[in-house]
Amino acid sequence: MGKRIIKYIKKILYCLVQVIYSGDESCVICSGYSEESEALCTVCRKKLRRSEESFYIGSSEEEYIARSVFYYSSIVKELIIRLKYKNDFICGEILAKYMLESVKNNYLEIDLISYVPMTKKAQKNRGYNQSEFLAKYLAQFSSIPVICNLVKTEDTKDQIGLSGDQRWDNMKKCFEIKGSEFIKNKNILLVDDVITTGATAFHCAHVLKKNGANNIFILTIAKSNV
Ligand SMILES: [Zn+2]
Repeated sequence: MGKRIIKYIKKILYCLVQVIYSGDESCVICSGYSEESEALCTVCRKKLRRSEESFYIGSSEEEYIARSVFYYSSIVKELIIRLKYKNDFICGEILAKYMLESVKNNYLEIDLISYVPMTKKAQKNRGYNQSEFLAKYLAQFSSIPVICNLVKTEDTKDQIGLSGDQRWDNMKKCFEIKGSEFIKNKNILLVDDVITTGATAFHCAHVLKKNGANNIFILTIAKSNV
């Protein structure tokens, strides 16, 4: 059996175990008692730092409005790391539920949900794209369709050592659209996990706009200043 198959079997087993044990009343973070079978206990929920304000990324010539549900700290950081690197979709669902609440409260005129893509190679290595997972959850519970036509063509791993401006430029040619006819004049919600400099989200939004989208709203779970 190939390594990939073993990896998938392990992942399925892990998910099954999570489903079997998800009915108990313990917090996914601290294992403490959680009322009414909530995934997070009251103590952990109190540590979630909400980010209420929306903000702009880009410059006055081209800017996009963005919103993050939380700041990237403590519990949120832990939940994101588990979703991103440990195949923990229970944590993914906790985060997606908070995002859904934000979508329902803040975005009234969305036609489509898009997400920040990974390169084929990166997605093959991880097995999934966490932003796609979040976008599909939002689509499922908001009845807004998800569109998977944003493509990342190049990996941008070696950003270390580059200045802020260089990082920004380095991203320029990484994204493209397949099938731009589907996004013409549409209002699009662009989903990502964490926003830091905003370069990734900006370039994705830029490509959507260039290919005929109307308004683009960026939504991430968290915003980080580092
Ligand atoms: Zn807890």
